[in-house]
Amino acid sequence: MLTPADTKTRHDQHGRYPEARTVEAFQRNLAAVQARIHEACRRVGRNPAHVRLLPVSKTKPESSLRLAYAAGCRMLGENKPQEAHRKWEAMQDLADLRWSVIGHLQTNKAKLVARFAAEFQALDSLRVAEAVERRLQVEGRSLDVFVQVNTSGEASKYGLAPEDVPAFLKALPAFSALRVRGLMTLALFSSEAQRVRQCFVLLRNLREQLRQSAPAGIVLDELSMGMSGDFEIAIEEGATVVRVGQAIFGARPLPDSHYWPSEGNDKESLP
Ligand SMILES: *Cc1c(COP(=O)(O)O)cnc(C)c1O
Repeated sequence: MLTPADTKTRHDQHGRYPEARTVEAFQRNLAAVQARIHEACRRVGRNPAHVRLLPVSKTKPESSLRLAYAAGCRMLGENKPQEAHRKWEAMQDLADLRWSVIGHLQTNKAKLVARFAAEFQALDSLRVAEAVERRLQVEGRSLDVFVQVNTSGEASKYGLAPEDVPAFLKALPAFSALRVRGLMTLALFSSEAQRVRQCFVLLRNLREQLRQSAPAGIVLDELSMGMSGDFEIAIEEGATVVRVGQAIFGARPLPDSHYWPSEGNDKESLP
C-alpha cells in the first residue's frame, strides 16, 4: 500500500498536459483530479469533502472557461486582476460563476478586485488590505480573503514571512469587509518531494499556532496549498483548498515567469 512517504511531485508533467478542448475533456480531467484528491485523502484518513478543488483558468481564453463551466465548474481562479476582470465582464451571462483572485495585487488594482471577486487569496500587506477595504465599502461588498505566506524563503516569492503573520493578523479586524478565512502558500517548485512537503508543513503549523491567538472574527479554517504538480502532498499535509490549473485546462502557452515574475521557475530550471 502506498503511504505519504511515497508521494512524489508531478512537476515532470509541467507544461505537458494536453489542452482540454471539449466539455467531455474537462469532465475527464476534473474526474481524474478528484480521483487523485480522494486517493491522497485516503492515504492520511481525511474526508475528501473537506478539500475544495479550485480550477485555475489563468491565460486560457473565454471559450475554454465556458467549457469548464459546462463541465460543472462554478468558481475559477485567476492570477492577474485585470485578466480576471475582463473575463468576468465577458461572462456576465453565467450568473452563478464566481471568481477567486489568487495572484499578487497592486493597490491600484484594488478597485477591480473589489468589484467582482468572491475571494482573494493573496493578501500580503496592510496597504493592500486598506485599498481593498476602501473599495469594498464603496461597492457595498465584502470579500473572503486568505493571507499569503512565503513558506519557501525564496526572495522572489510573494507573501509574508511566517514570523510577520501574527502581527499582520492582529491588524485585520479593523477591515470589516474582509472576511479572513485562512492561509495560502506556493511551495518551492522542486522535484524533491520532501522540500516541497516542508513548505506545506510550515503553513499548517503556523495555522495551528495562530488559531489560539487569532483575534475575534479572524477564522483560520482554510489552508490553500497545492497545485497540479504537488496537490497530493499538500492534501496529505492538510490542504482544504487546492488550486489546479494545467491538470484541468491543459498546459499554458506562456512560461510561468510571465505571471510569477522573475522566479526563474521554468521547467528547465528544476533542481
Ligand atoms: C497558476 C497558479 C496555480 C495553478 O498552477 P498549475 O500548475 O496550473 O496547477 C496555483 N496557484 C497560483 C497562485 C497560481 O498562480
